[in-house]
Amino acid sequence: MSEMKNDDFVNYELREFKLFEPLFRWARKKSLWIVAFCTGCGGIEMPPLATARYDFERFGIMPNPAPRMGDLFLITGYVTPKTLKRIIITYEMMQDPKYVLAHGSCPINGGVYWDSYNVVKQLDKYIPVDVAIAGCMPRAEAVMEGIMEIMRKIEDGTADGWKRYKENYEWYKKNQDELFGEGWREKDARRWLAWI
Ligand code: SF4
Repeated sequence: MSEMKNDDFVNYELREFKLFEPLFRWARKKSLWIVAFCTGCGGIEMPPLATARYDFERFGIMPNPAPRMGDLFLITGYVTPKTLKRIIITYEMMQDPKYVLAHGSCPINGGVYWDSYNVVKQLDKYIPVDVAIAGCMPRAEAVMEGIMEIMRKIEDGTADGWKRYKENYEWYKKNQDELFGEGWREKDARRWLAWI
């Protein structure tokens, strides 16, 4: 009986890393690497965040151009269908767990471009958004507060967009295909490969 309990402990607590999960969450929130892919006007708020006034490196945050090493994806404003394709591919290249912060009204509901033929009105239909910051444009302190909110959600385990993307992949893929047409990845890959 006690052997069974030991097995259970090893299987569910150690092998599944549940025992160490609070430590991992704390470490993750303290070392967020940002995917430096600035979309839309909100990207202009990044220099004040990185420089002396807000100095986000003191929280362990670092800009990083490689999606494979990024944890936090900032969507810094309006999203066009053409950009959205790159956003989806970049998001899928990032390793789990990964988090998405959307700046400003545009990725929430299209913002001032709500009636435009060429702006995606709801980013959350195509990739999961963990925290969205309202405003046009949100000031640097609002972006900082959004990052702090992501950190709080990482620590309490509610920044789970990466899990939702896996669990509801068919729904996200259906929305993506409705916008771009089925087979869009393959078609785009063929176009990009022609440049290599
Ligand atoms: S919310 Fe305003 S600042 Fe942000 S991308 Fe849209 S128009 Fe630009």
